[in-house]
Amino acid sequence: MEQPNWKKLFVESNIPEKLTPLKEISRNLWWVWNTEARELFQYIDAEIWEECEHNPIVLLDEVNYQRFLELEKDEEFLFKMNHVSSLLHKYLDDRKVLKGPSVAYFSMEYGLHDSLKIFSGGLGILAGDYLKEASDSKVDLVGVGLLYRYGYFRQNISITGEQLSNYDAQQFSKIPVQPAYDADGNWIHVQVQYPGREISAQVWQVSIGSIKLFLLDADFEANSDEDRFVTHHLYGGDNENRLKQEMLLGLGGIRALKKLGYSMDIYHCNEGHAAMIGLERMADFVSEKGLTYPEAKEVVRVSTLFTTHTPVPAGHDSFYQDMFKHYMHEYPGKVGISWDEFCNLGKANPFEDHFNMSYLACNLSQGINGVSMLHGEVSKEVLSPLYEGFLPEELEVGYVTNGVHYATWAAKEWKEMHLKYFGRSFPENQLDFDLWEKIYKVPDEEIWNLKQSMRLKTIGYIKQRFTNTWIKRHENPKMISEVLGKLNPYALTIGFARRFATYKRAHLLFRNLDRLSKLVNDPARPVQFIFAGKAHPADKAGQDLIKYIVEISKRPEFIGKILFVQNYDMNLAKMMLQGVDIWMNTPTRPLEASGTSGEKGVMNGTIHFSVLDGWWVEGYKKDAGWALPQDNAYEINDLQDELDAETIYNIFEEEILPAFYDRNINGIPEKWVSYIKNTFAQVSPNFTTARMIRDYQDRFYKPQAERSARLIDKDYNLAKEIAKWKSGVSAVWDQIEVKNVQITDGITNVLKIGEVYPARVVVDIKGLKPEDLSVEMVITENGKDTRPTLIECLPFTVEKAEGQLITYKLDLNLMNAGAFGYAIRILPNHPELPHRQDFHHMKWVQ
Ligand SMILES: *Cc1c(COP(=O)(O)O)cnc(C)c1O
Repeated sequence: MEQPNWKKLFVESNIPEKLTPLKEISRNLWWVWNTEARELFQYIDAEIWEECEHNPIVLLDEVNYQRFLELEKDEEFLFKMNHVSSLLHKYLDDRKVLKGPSVAYFSMEYGLHDSLKIFSGGLGILAGDYLKEASDSKVDLVGVGLLYRYGYFRQNISITGEQLSNYDAQQFSKIPVQPAYDADGNWIHVQVQYPGREISAQVWQVSIGSIKLFLLDADFEANSDEDRFVTHHLYGGDNENRLKQEMLLGLGGIRALKKLGYSMDIYHCNEGHAAMIGLERMADFVSEKGLTYPEAKEVVRVSTLFTTHTPVPAGHDSFYQDMFKHYMHEYPGKVGISWDEFCNLGKANPFEDHFNMSYLACNLSQGINGVSMLHGEVSKEVLSPLYEGFLPEELEVGYVTNGVHYATWAAKEWKEMHLKYFGRSFPENQLDFDLWEKIYKVPDEEIWNLKQSMRLKTIGYIKQRFTNTWIKRHENPKMISEVLGKLNPYALTIGFARRFATYKRAHLLFRNLDRLSKLVNDPARPVQFIFAGKAHPADKAGQDLIKYIVEISKRPEFIGKILFVQNYDMNLAKMMLQGVDIWMNTPTRPLEASGTSGEKGVMNGTIHFSVLDGWWVEGYKKDAGWALPQDNAYEINDLQDELDAETIYNIFEEEILPAFYDRNINGIPEKWVSYIKNTFAQVSPNFTTARMIRDYQDRFYKPQAERSARLIDKDYNLAKEIAKWKSGVSAVWDQIEVKNVQITDGITNVLKIGEVYPARVVVDIKGLKPEDLSVEMVITENGKDTRPTLIECLPFTVEKAEGQLITYKLDLNLMNAGAFGYAIRILPNHPELPHRQDFHHMKWVQ
């Protein structure tokens, strides 16, 4: 019998002429933070909009043609669509001319929307928020990253609580990426040298308002299977694959920008992954501008900023040097240095056997910053091995506290209320903190009703999401209905969601299950906790913790009181942060560099309850949240956990429950509402990306760009001068000799306050100028750790010069009594150095 002969038929979706603006709107991620645009897509087909997880490109593909024909005749829809389209055009037109230093921003991940799976967690979402803000704040910025075929995993939890990780391939035609073309209309490709071959990457472009993000993708025919794999997974594969990715991002990223015609004032390296941008730029300056390696290094350093996010030394990427050499051996030749000199750029001392990307980033950046005030301090300690001789507190490691993109994370209901009370211009004026104070004018009832309605919405969403997954997983139907029945939209609801790294201490709440059970099961004052989060596939301890929480949540006393919702993504984060009453965060101090989810909460009147770590050190205000003390009382983690857990239960029982459940005659918890108002007025304004980007401009971009302009002016004149001066000093540094020291010794001869004791150091400067050196006395005190801490640094001045013998003098005149330590050191000195660690030589006078 004859068989049917199936032939292929391709039908492309076709949007009627009148509706073409939809294409443009769907392909600029501006829609993500614009309520009208989101509502427009929802209007097209609310059901598909949910099914496709808010991906407008998929939505437009899947809506049937009949529906388009209806919309074409729907006046209300056409009006809305044209309105949104004109908003987008006006927004883009307002950003045609941009001011301030131009910035190239490099990051391994970007969290812009769930539909573009190129992020895993906090670091990526921060970078995504930053691009959105750069657009809103009219910053001249372009982003560079990698396009992953599979991205990060989707989390499923098995019936026994195991985490299963699923990787879905992204179809690039269904996500908002488009090929990036050069001026002649050719798709841009870049190549990077790997051992014995080249890898090629095609460059894609994403539009985020006025900002362009360029993504490199190696998964196409030009490469072998092995090389195509390089951009498959974010944080997947082995250490060698990570090196390949980082070469692509750093070296390839700069090549892509060059082909695209971008030359920026500042290169911002978001975490050490992209540190190779400095290498590629140095090689360019050498080959294209004829600079020497030291000159190129000056020019690259002044224009590079490195942001570190990792408070533990082990968290910094590093590569075993033999493997590193296998990949990078050609590089030193490009800039004319030896392998050893090159390799030392990634080491704190030559005997280390790993090349550390954070060290490389530090060595090639003038600006270095941590991501909260506390983390800035911690980073000084972490990076101090690089700057031997300096006390950590002397280091020029600044900070910019992370923020969140208000328009992305605040619920549209809050945004509407803010517009009403703070004024129509509020979105552009988030930095006017007085506007936020107007929250005190809003009637209590209005705030409370809004918060109640948000909780209701979120519990509804969670029930739905939860039911879907529990049915798929064949859970006992009785259990499902019990959970759903017990979830209470009026109960005090606490959210806890983040990466399940063990330092985040999700287990803390469960230290005393009896007490926890009493807390959640008081019929007069019910409490429920919602958990979510992924553990890295290689992190067994994190996965065990998830399993443990899933098990607890199925015990009779915790059913519907403790809930674990799977696959934490941006949408779930948003729903949770908007709908819960309290956001909890209990990291081990000081391991939370900043943390951002609590900041998303405070944009929604969600009150924060956390250990004083990361951003909360700066954010916490009395009567605007709750805090666990900053200092560890115990050195043993287990005891500290015990104490923290007890403190948490106490705060719930004594402060939180009364504030939430004491209602006035109108049923309003006045105290609670006052906490919400205080949060909006005193906490939220400081943690927007608008504030964050301003800080980056003021503390780093502008000063660095200004100095950079001076260095490169007149054919790199000043850069050459500084490089020459440095070479001269380095050449004789080891020969500089201290000939004589005179100082009153405070042990044999106790110093009196207010009296002047002259100190003198005679140095043979070996052909340098007297002012090329600074001699200084460092006064320290023994701090609570064993190491000395800095009190002050007293400079010597030149007293007299006899040939090469220079006498430096200091009139020591101490004004405080006590026991101090002192030591005298000599450093290079030049008025054009941005800071002293910029040129790291030091000699201690014995
Ligand atoms: C905000 C966010 C994070 C980061 O949260 P932290 O508090 O910084 O740990 C991780 N994942 C998602 C989906 C988020 O929205």
